[in-house]
Amino acid sequence: MKALQYRTIGAPPEVVTVPDPEPGPGQVLLKVTAAGVCHSDIAVMSWPAENFPYGLPLTLGHEGVGTVAALGAGVTGVKEGDAVAVYGPQGCGTCAKCAQGKENYCLRAEELGIRPPGLGAPGSMAEYLLVDNPRHLVPLDGLDPVAAVPLTDAGLTPYHAIKRSLPKLVPGSTAVVIGAGGLGHVAIQLLRAMTPARVVALDVSEDKLRLAREVGAHEAVLSDPKAAATVRELTGGVGAEAVFDFVGAQPTVTTAAAVAAVEADVTIVGIAGGSLPVGFGTLPFEVSVTAPYWGSRGELLEVLALARSGAVSVHTETFSLDEAPLAYERLHKGKINGRAVVLP
Ligand code: NAD
Ligand code: ZN
Ligand code: ZN
Repeated sequence: MKALQYRTIGAPPEVVTVPDPEPGPGQVLLKVTAAGVCHSDIAVMSWPAENFPYGLPLTLGHEGVGTVAALGAGVTGVKEGDAVAVYGPQGCGTCAKCAQGKENYCLRAEELGIRPPGLGAPGSMAEYLLVDNPRHLVPLDGLDPVAAVPLTDAGLTPYHAIKRSLPKLVPGSTAVVIGAGGLGHVAIQLLRAMTPARVVALDVSEDKLRLAREVGAHEAVLSDPKAAATVRELTGGVGAEAVFDFVGAQPTVTTAAAVAAVEADVTIVGIAGGSLPVGFGTLPFEVSVTAPYWGSRGELLEVLALARSGAVSVHTETFSLDEAPLAYERLHKGKINGRAVVLP
């Protein structure tokens, strides 16, 4: 089968031919119908050899949906032809966190060598994907594969982040979204669907600010050193009760802190290496700063249900598997509006 692989540190990913995978006992083989292109992959492909945590070659793609093509021995609960989404941050299934569906925070994944597809294990940018256990599959139940695939990360990750802050996003509150890209443009829609908060989006690109307004942001502000003052002004000096940073670089986490209200939540989702000093007098009183990872299995079901209700629609741009390197190149240059989706 064809697969998109990251093969050489620092080089672009390549479309190659690899053996068709076959499901072993307990495993499910999917014919991949769509795979999402996440900025985290670009981060992965920028890591130097000495810090690279995965083996090479690595088949990319940690957002995947497909139809069940074959079942390994003993698999029950799914059948051939079922259309399913893959829960990516898979855990051991039995530790205390996994028991709560929080496989993203599995206590034993590291020790057991369990890695998400596309982030260590072979990913969804291929004609077929092997899934280790049917519990990682969630029925699409009528959702379009292209529209649904980004929900497995670009939907699930902001959903988890926003859900934590719901008690603070009461009527009259403000939520700030920094970075209206793949995750951010979904976050804006989730905030509108799940909260009465006023949503202020920040981005460096006029195209992204336009998309932010289209998908429901009340205000869209150019992200520059003056942005924090603008947000303060928009909130009558109070600041935002919740700030979601989908960039995570030093300038954006600095802005995130500067727009936080007393008792705000500052959630750093982007992985661009920025950090905040936390200590008495560094931030407004009782600000909580957190950096979450992906979301739980239960939350994936919830975000898919929300999409079925029509409350969230991901803006997508599609590419064939042969064009997948171009999708990454365009994402790297900031040229993707919404989410790029590869159709293997
Ligand atoms: P993306 O490229 O689609 O979106 C990033 C957006 O940020 C773009 O619209 C870009 O114009 C904007 N941007 C860049 N610099 C900015 C700045 N200084 N101020 C404001 N906006 C700026 O990327 P994505 O796929 O949505 O991923 C976003 C980030 O989230 C990445 O760092 C990714 O690695 C990370 N991520 C984290 C998790 C997690 O579990 N923590 C999960 C998925 C993605
Ligand atoms: Zn991702
Ligand atoms: Zn576990």
